Parts: sequence; C-alpha cells; structure tokens
Amino acid sequence: GQCITHCPVGALRERDDTDKAFAALADPDTITVVQIAPAVRAAWGESLGLPREQATAKRLVAALRKIGFRYIFDTTFSADLTIMEEGSEFLAKLRNRENETFPMFTSCCPGWVRFLKSQYPDMVRQLSTAKSPQQMFGAITKSYYAKLLDVEPERICSISVMPCLAKKQEAALPTMDTAGAGPDVDIVLTTREIDRMIRAEDIHPGELPEEEFDQPLGVGSGAGVIFGATGGVMEAALRSAYYLVTGKNPEPDAFGNVRGMDGWKEAAIDIAGTTVRVAVASGLGNARRLVEALRKGDVQYDFVEIMACPGGCSGGGGQPIAEGEERAGVRAETLYGLDNISALRFSHENPSIVQVYRDYLDKPLSHRAHELLHTAHDAWEMPGAAAKK
Ligand code: SF4
Repeated sequence: GQCITHCPVGALRERDDTDKAFAALADPDTITVVQIAPAVRAAWGESLGLPREQATAKRLVAALRKIGFRYIFDTTFSADLTIMEEGSEFLAKLRNRENETFPMFTSCCPGWVRFLKSQYPDMVRQLSTAKSPQQMFGAITKSYYAKLLDVEPERICSISVMPCLAKKQEAALPTMDTAGAGPDVDIVLTTREIDRMIRAEDIHPGELPEEEFDQPLGVGSGAGVIFGATGGVMEAALRSAYYLVTGKNPEPDAFGNVRGMDGWKEAAIDIAGTTVRVAVASGLGNARRLVEALRKGDVQYDFVEIMACPGGCSGGGGQPIAEGEERAGVRAETLYGLDNISALRFSHENPSIVQVYRDYLDKPLSHRAHELLHTAHDAWEMPGAAAKK
C-alpha cells in the first residue's frame, strides 16, 4: 500500500511513490525510463551526507543504475526543447505585436500555473503554451524514444526525479497523455524520495564511480541546467531567442543580469534593435505583487518568468530539508557553475535537440511539436472548481 509521510512543515500530506517505482522495477515486462531534473543534481547528496563535489549528476546516474533503472536520461535535454518551443512562440508573438497581449508568462512551474488559474483566470491565455520540461520529456519518451527502441509505448514506465511536489499533480492532469499510452509521465519521485530509495537499497553513492547518462536523451546544455535556478529559464530563452533573430550567438553570459536571489528582477534587453522588457519573480508573494503591478499598469513587460518556490526549483518543496537553512542560493551557484564549465551553452546547439527536430519534430511549432509539446492551460479545471459550482 501507499505509505503517507508528513510534510516537514506539517501543512501538506506528502504522497510517497517509491512503492510504485519499486513495483515497476520488479516487473520484467516493464522498461523503466528515468529523467533527472536540473535542480536535483544540486541537492540530492545533501541528505545522504555526500560532499558537494561528490554529489554529481553522473554519480546519481550510477546510483540509479544500481537500483535497476534501465535508461537514465536528463531533463536538461527537454529544458533545451522547451527553450526551442517557448523561444519560438515568444518571437512569433513579438512579430504579431498588435494582436497579442503581453507579457507572455513562462509555464514550466505547475505551482505558478495553478496560482494564475485560480487567482487571475483572465490572464491564463498569456501563459506560454509550451509544456514543462518534465512533460515534454514524457511525451518524447512515449513517442520518439519508443520508436527508437522499437517497443510499444505501453511497455515504458516513464519516471521523473523532481525537486517538486506540484509536479506529481502536473503529471496526473488529463491533458498530459498526448502519446496515447497512458500518462506521459507515469511516476514522479521527489529528490527526497529518490534519496530514500538509495538508502533502502543500501547503496553508498560516495563509493561509486561516476557513470554517463544514456543517449540520445541524456544530453543537455548549460542553458538547460540553469532552469533549476530563478532567472535561468529567462536567461536560457534569451540566449536562443537572440540566435533565432540574428543568426549569431550572443556572449553566453550576456543576459546574466537576471541572475540572483532577489524575489523580483527586471531587465531591458536589446535584440537586433528591438528592446525586450523582461522580468523574473520567484515565490508566490512576489508573483502576486508583480501581477497586481501589471494589472494596474505600473509596469510593462514583454516576457515574464515566474517560479512558485523562492529561489526557483533549487529551493523546491521536494528537495532535502536542512533544519533552519535556506539552500536555494547555494544550489543555484552549483547550477551556474555547471553552466559556466559546460561545453554546450546554447539550447539550439544541443546535438540531441538538432537530431530530434531533424528526425521527428521537423521544426519548432510544427504540427507534431504542437501535438506533443504544447498544451491548452484552459483545457482542465482547477480541482475542486467543479464541486464548488
Ligand atoms: Fe515545482 Fe517549486 Fe520548481 Fe515550481 S518552482 S516547478 S513548484 S519546485
């Protein structure tokens, strides 16, 4: 049965899905495909007592292989895919400025999407239609990757490791089964849950050598990695938007002025003579202040990134909890450090992204990309809304 643990702040009951994951691993007919979110790599070692330098993504890959997961991939791949789709969507809106409502809001944080739907339903249409990296990954797994493996997508159990509790609800939305083989993401495990599985299997990751992600969905850029920090989605999107408009890469750190732990940041960016006004907020209190300022006309923006958790996903509700410590900033530094040393700094240069467009999706915003990678946020009701009617 399901074991229910309690949220450390006592406010939420936390669902534990590790039993489901162990059941999938035990079924010889099931092919497990795992994705690891960007922010998880900056935090998973904390509750296992691993020093920061040892708790790498590659060492987590080794631990997951030891548990028995079959294919281990990186959500930074689909973060890059999100950038391609969302960046193209934003540029299309800019070209059609008179007929569009600005700002466009990012849509990768389900906590923020639910907040906007419940508090400001008249603005839901301003959300990007791009799905979150978790959901894009699931849709690609059960379509393109099932084809590559030459198996029925129904045999695949798609599992994500996330810094987030809200991702469990996102994966269960009725709109998130686009590949026609059940939910695109079958099981969502938090960082705390994957740590529990590692402990339950008596694995000591500190003693394991690092291992590589599987291919081709295990390749992500530094731009994909910084999705895990507040401002990272915006920065990654601007890097590729600049390229899509000018045909040239900007300096990789050209848009670094949206970094940092401030709850509400803004910048004006020049892209080929067009000024783009961007803002970044994290924490729902800041999100509310920003939205209220927009509605009063006190501020004007073209593109806004919002994350529900203060500091973004690195401070997410599914991450290890250290008593009295706020770790979002330290973890974000880890992510920016990884971006800085990455050989790939741009989503559009990720060879696996180039491959999936060439072989399967055609181009950003294509018919197939729309079917698999975009969603209508007004196609589902807030849970409880029907009962209230
Ligand atoms: Fe989840 Fe928080 Fe990240 Fe939003 S900011 S996706 S709620 S971890």
